[in-house]
Amino acid sequence: MVDDNYMRILLNYSFFCYFCIPYLTDMHPLEKFRYCPCCGTADFQVATEKSKRCRNCGLELFMNPSAAVAAFITNDKGELLVCRRAKEPAKGTLDLPGGFCDIGETVEEAVRREVREETNITLTDAEYAFSLPNKYMYSGLAIPTLDFFFECKVSSAPDVIHAADDASELLWLSPQKIDPSLFGLDSIRRAVANWKEQQRNGDRNQIAN
Ligand SMILES: [Zn+2]
Repeated sequence: MVDDNYMRILLNYSFFCYFCIPYLTDMHPLEKFRYCPCCGTADFQVATEKSKRCRNCGLELFMNPSAAVAAFITNDKGELLVCRRAKEPAKGTLDLPGGFCDIGETVEEAVRREVREETNITLTDAEYAFSLPNKYMYSGLAIPTLDFFFECKVSSAPDVIHAADDASELLWLSPQKIDPSLFGLDSIRRAVANWKEQQRNGDRNQIAN
């Protein structure tokens, strides 16, 4: 027989996970959607690892990753443009200029728009580098994203840039001064660590040649 106290602790723990830190659990991505968003019935069941199906109206709802972009913008001195996040999640931590793609937009268009909105800089070139999956906490949901990283060029990089939109501050940092642990979003932190390693290897190759 299962001890009552044990069951109570287990239920409390489950309740905590369900409502507070779903991104730390292996819960289904649509777990919080208890009712069919089309007909409103509660007979809305898990169909696959990324979808739920309504047994009343037949709707199958999927949770696929949202596309997002981030920019590595460097100036003539090899410094990287870094911004400070103005909003949650991870408010106050470092970030790269970027954000979510809009409906009907390409990732190339999105990176140019996001950089313009946050820094007022117009990119002259944006070359796709690599992508990383991530989970973005928003409104209590762990939104799966696929982040596209771009190596970007600007015609002239101003020394002082005014932050706007989702950025509260903009900084030019030399690769040696960049600490990836200060970047609050997981995929951005990993991408910056990759970028820093690439810069270090590039410097080594230059010295060797
Ligand atoms: Zn339905």
